[in-house]
Amino acid sequence: MQKYTIAIHGGAGTILKSNMTAEKEAAYKSALSEALNSGTQILAEGGSALAAVEDAVRILEDCPLFNAGKGSVFTATGTHEMDASIMEGKTLQAGAVAQIEGVRNPISLARLIMEKSGHVFLSGNGALDFAKKMNCELRDKEWFYDEFRYQQWQKIKGTDSFQLDHAANKDHKFGTVGAVAMDVNGNIAAATSTGGMTNKRFGRVGDSPMIGAGTYANNATCAVSCTGSGEYFIRGVVAYDVSCLMEYKGLSLEAACNEVVHSRLLKIKGDGGLIAVDALGNIALPFNTEGMYRGWKKSDGTELIAIYG
Ligand code: ASP
Repeated sequence: MQKYTIAIHGGAGTILKSNMTAEKEAAYKSALSEALNSGTQILAEGGSALAAVEDAVRILEDCPLFNAGKGSVFTATGTHEMDASIMEGKTLQAGAVAQIEGVRNPISLARLIMEKSGHVFLSGNGALDFAKKMNCELRDKEWFYDEFRYQQWQKIKGTDSFQLDHAANKDHKFGTVGAVAMDVNGNIAAATSTGGMTNKRFGRVGDSPMIGAGTYANNATCAVSCTGSGEYFIRGVVAYDVSCLMEYKGLSLEAACNEVVHSRLLKIKGDGGLIAVDALGNIALPFNTEGMYRGWKKSDGTELIAIYG
């Protein structure tokens, strides 16, 4: 049998069992499982890792439980500005979009930017203009609305804080989504999509659309998708750092991920986690927060869906 692997995340943060109802937990798990199964189906039929990660992320973007696409958080001015990126490990091709509004699936726009724009990274109005030319599905503001996110925003609206401040808000959690996969040809890919941080200043861009910070893929090392306080992930160039530790120091996937998440990130007070896969299909899902919505599935039939630490 040919080997394939997929892993996904739906964000990390202060996710405690004591704050969760049985229904909510079941809803999260079922959404993760739907995304995982759909991506697995693509891989099982011989589809590419790139197609699988795009597909899994699209499903999570369409689910309002997560902070990406539908259900994205509110900025300080009450808008939804989304960021996403995708990268292919075989060719090192990448596509990214930041500050995009009104596009149903930012991850698919990121892929179109990679494949059709001649550029890597588009933002704001220019990205929207390109999305329209590519006939991306557009949605009005109401489509992105989620009552829970709205209430989250109301709590800190008008203040200078954006939801990074764990002390001020113990319910803090992220909710960015991501996927990494290895296909039957041994190619790997990564994708990440987010609404960013609640009450973020408009114009703020996080790590998720930044190649090397929130997303990276290289067949020679690994594919990585991050979630956490973006400012720290940008400064730590986290996704690329995992790859560098493997490439230059010869660390295994697991050792490299642990070094970055449990040591280097903590040294700069960065909180969050990541999912990673290498070209042999090994997986790592480290996080330094209380929880991370996560799951993986392999061609040998083994799988896991988990939330808490
Ligand atoms: N990393 C994202 C950002 O800073 C947030 C998240 O992971 O939920 O925009």
